[in-house]
Amino acid sequence: MNKSANYQLTIVVPVYNEEDNIYSLETKLAEYLPSALVPTCVLFVNDGSRDASGDRILEVCTRNPHFFYLNLARNSGLSAAMKAGIDYADSIYVGYMDADLQTTPEDFNLLLKDITHYELVMGIRANRKDSPFKKLQSKIANGFRRAMTHDGVEDTGCPLKVMHTSYAKRIPFFTGMHRFLPALILLQEGRVKQTPVRHFPRVAGVSKYHLWNRLISPFLDCFAYRWMKKRYINYRVGDTNLTA
Ligand code: UDP
Ligand code: MG
Repeated sequence: MNKSANYQLTIVVPVYNEEDNIYSLETKLAEYLPSALVPTCVLFVNDGSRDASGDRILEVCTRNPHFFYLNLARNSGLSAAMKAGIDYADSIYVGYMDADLQTTPEDFNLLLKDITHYELVMGIRANRKDSPFKKLQSKIANGFRRAMTHDGVEDTGCPLKVMHTSYAKRIPFFTGMHRFLPALILLQEGRVKQTPVRHFPRVAGVSKYHLWNRLISPFLDCFAYRWMKKRYINYRVGDTNLTA
């Protein structure tokens, strides 16, 4: 157990070369924490940034008692950063938001309202503020993934999610899995709820994803998911004296 066990929610924020977003993140998150529906801490996962993100994360963690960080030894990609955050979260719930502030931490409260009844509560980006080209890519990718996985999820890429940590830790992790989170919770017979959240333009830093990694790899991952769905192991323990 680490310090995150003293909270009910750990917000994992993956960071890769986001130096110009760290101070605004600090402000937004520090504003949110006192109003959070449950006691909440922040876990920055610095995914091998090569700019000043690492130094700035250290700085904001010194000023804010509920902020923690995990420095990955090298850049490993968003799915890996997310896995690291989930592996190290010891709170009952684990949340996720991107470092680019295209969503706001305040909206975690919209998701937390339903967290006792659903194993994953996720946002849907209402009035999405991205370029028409990026929205088109998402639309195609979401449509295809929905048809292949039957996950019924409108906006799998929405960077605002809250999960039960016990379910999050059982997700089979692979590169690209961050797009399949709801499908992977459903695999465990978890319940998924989708709630509209606000969306904002990216004001600092640049997107790390492009046509190839947004469309082609996820296309192939859909086939892996279908295979996994057929073979996935779900068991329920009837009785044990291990925990009695
Ligand atoms: N990110 C990361 N490792 C990477 C690439 C991205 O941790 O190798 C982080 C990035 O800093 C951001 C989030 O993942 O917080 C989503 O990335 P981005 O906003 O570039 O993706 P988009 O929203 O454009 O799909
Ligand atoms: Mg983004």
